[in-house]
Amino acid sequence: MTTHTPKKLWIGGQAVDGEAAVAPLVSINPATGAVNYEVAAAGAALADAAVRNADDAARGKAWRQMLPPQRAAILSRIADGMERRSEALAQLQMLENGKVWRECQSQVKSAAATFRYYAAVCETTGSEVTPSRGDYLSMSVYEPYGVVAAITPWNSPMTMEAQKVAPALAAGNAVVLKPSEITPSAALLLAEIATEAGLPDGILNVLAGTGAQVGAALVEHPKVRMVSFTGGTESGRRIAETAARKLMPVALELGGKSPHIVFNDAPLDAAVAALAGGIFEGSGQSCVAGSRAFVQRGVYDEVAAKLVATARALKVDLPDAPGAEMGPLATFAHRDKVAGMVDSARRAGADILVGGQRPDAARLAAGAYYLPTVVAGIDNQAAIARQEIFGPVLCLIPFDDEDDLIAQANDTAFGLASGVWTRDYQRAWRVARALEAGTVWINTYKQLSIATPFGGFKDSGIGREKGINGMRLYQQPKGIYFGMGALA
Ligand code: NAD
Repeated sequence: MTTHTPKKLWIGGQAVDGEAAVAPLVSINPATGAVNYEVAAAGAALADAAVRNADDAARGKAWRQMLPPQRAAILSRIADGMERRSEALAQLQMLENGKVWRECQSQVKSAAATFRYYAAVCETTGSEVTPSRGDYLSMSVYEPYGVVAAITPWNSPMTMEAQKVAPALAAGNAVVLKPSEITPSAALLLAEIATEAGLPDGILNVLAGTGAQVGAALVEHPKVRMVSFTGGTESGRRIAETAARKLMPVALELGGKSPHIVFNDAPLDAAVAALAGGIFEGSGQSCVAGSRAFVQRGVYDEVAAKLVATARALKVDLPDAPGAEMGPLATFAHRDKVAGMVDSARRAGADILVGGQRPDAARLAAGAYYLPTVVAGIDNQAAIARQEIFGPVLCLIPFDDEDDLIAQANDTAFGLASGVWTRDYQRAWRVARALEAGTVWINTYKQLSIATPFGGFKDSGIGREKGINGMRLYQQPKGIYFGMGALA
């Protein structure tokens, strides 16, 4: 396969060279270790140029006065363009983060669907006339912030970028998007697609570069009035500190250590398939990965045996190999970090039931692979059960009754997602209400709909993306009063 690879940044509707003083990003294919290409990188000077450009564009009539149906039509045409270029977008992601081809393709589809969804939201969401308490007509209207900085991670770049850019544009903002330094290219291609779709110049700018060199400069910039960030909890905390100083709203989608719970009465085959899918899909590099499996004592041994068999049967392969179910991790450094965490658990006395090492196959030797791993013989206090691993590593922990389960499941700094397997719907309801998590899946896992609000409790974030209110995240309400008394 060959594809068009954007190598430059995108500011004001055109491709722009990187900053002379900033080294270009070197993209490495984690499946093979080969260098893919270099991509221009921005620093503080181009961050400033892009923000000023976006600010002018946001204040300009072309965007500010564009009626919702026209704005919606552009968002729909962006979705069309993504579908037309879906092979190229999927390939860029596969080359840069090593996700299997099927998943890359489905993520492009989902990203395009997000633009369509927010086209509909943009065109159909109204303002309100509020109840009057006097001789006036009062309204709430919703105004964009102006310039929004969107900062995204490398695990699912296209879906995260669409999830921020589509509602922020629908809301009438200009966006400066900073993709991860590991996965810069799909965002750069998205900017080209958006310009082809008729988005006015300057309304979507894309700056590749590192968090330290360009991400932080965007967050600090006085003309950036809102930041939407997805990434690690520590980066999110730093961004929130800056935002507090600037009195600027932020949306933060951060890490997780999600409990995935199996009661004795669960349909075990379905539960085990979901436990495995929930942690091994995407090599576990998913914020909602079900990384702590709590299994009730009566079915613990059976679930452990089935999980081991499922993990052994998983096809770990080159991401474009037919039937590949799990590719490499996104970088070599990340693979080594995951391996290091499993090694420490092993040294601390954990049982590694399966995995815990790189695959043996010679064709995978040069890539950043790590086998699907199940860790047992630990409790919820073990370091491996507390830290986010962001890899294909499942912690298996027994529980006795519902109260014990709730206490353990909620004993974590995070609160992003969770899953419950039981045939008892009353228990499912009780547990779902008791779990401190932004999403609860009951007898299913990792279903994600753009129509349903998404976000985290506790250290997993602030704010909710997606859904109809996902557009309101990027707007501020304004009250307007019309005096209705006689104009003498
Ligand atoms: P990261 O925090 O290192 O980086 C995320 C993005 O932020 C990158 O673009 C990076 O360059 C930028 N960045 C880093 N420091 C910054 C700073 N101080 N100022 C501005 N920008 C900065 O995270 P990552 O390693 O790319 O991604 C993995 C993390 O993302 C995991 O913790 C995962 O759970 C989380 N994640 C969360 C969700 C969610 O929706 N909650 C989704 C996907 C990933």
